[in-house]
Amino acid sequence: MPVLPNMPKASDWQRVRPMRAFAQLTASLDAQLEPARFERMEGVVIAGTVAARIAAVSEGMSAGRSSARATNADIVAHRPGFTVEAKAHLRLTCQSCGESFAHVVSTLSTLWVARDERELLAWEQAAARADIDAEGEDGGPSAHGAAELEVVLADEQASGLSLVEDELLLAMPVVPRCPACASSSEPQRFSFG
Ligand SMILES: [Zn+2]
Repeated sequence: MPVLPNMPKASDWQRVRPMRAFAQLTASLDAQLEPARFERMEGVVIAGTVAARIAAVSEGMSAGRSSARATNADIVAHRPGFTVEAKAHLRLTCQSCGESFAHVVSTLSTLWVARDERELLAWEQAAARADIDAEGEDGGPSAHGAAELEVVLADEQASGLSLVEDELLLAMPVVPRCPACASSSEPQRFSFG
């Protein structure tokens, strides 16, 4: 069992700080955040609290990889980064039948911290090349779940709360559909009598 981090104060999540500070966290930020705090999620019903966690990427995470294919971790090897995790139970309205349905969001993203624009660009180009290589090998760019490389600038400012909210917004379906409608592969037909 890892040692439980100290319970962070509410202000820890509101405090705006440079991205590099998140990559230098010595203890993870963990909290159950109240839905009311997510102002950009207006119109989405969040049931209960949002489980949130931000933690620095530990050094040497990418060490010892033997894959021939460059992974995101290889591209940014030994560079600072941090993970943002969000778990929430949402209630969405199905765009096909209008029913309200439960949608569980559980996401984990790694943000890599680039010193400057130049480094950011270099990483993105390397990631694009790795994607092309992967495509050439198996014909599917995302067949191996090659996650998009997410890079932020060291001086960019954000609060933990807004980073978690970004995660939730990204995880929202563009067109919400309930499981019943999503599983019916046939397009809906209407017969008029
Ligand atoms: Zn539906």
